[in-house]
Amino acid sequence: MDTTETVSYQKVSLEEYNLRNCRDIDPNVFFPHDKNRDLQRIAVKAAQAICEGCIIQTLCQESAILRNEQEGVWGGIMFGSGSARSRRSYIQ
Ligand code: SF4
Repeated sequence: MDTTETVSYQKVSLEEYNLRNCRDIDPNVFFPHDKNRDLQRIAVKAAQAICEGCIIQTLCQESAILRNEQEGVWGGIMFGSGSARSRRSYIQ
């Protein structure tokens, strides 16, 4: 068991968790997979915009890093293959 992750989550009260920006949003929004690079970039930015100003954004980022998250937008950061694709697309 990863106790570090447990500690991070313990910082979030139920009240805070229930106020997170994504509480009523389809989780698929945070796992965009579009083969079209422009559409993928737009989808990632849309998910990141939802995270912006979220009451638990920093803890969401921390916990995703501690979990070594491989995919999705967490705390406004794109993790995993989508991120690699996105970064490559900016370089090319
Ligand atoms: S920061 Fe985390 S909890 Fe907040 S909206 Fe984004 S994914 Fe949801």
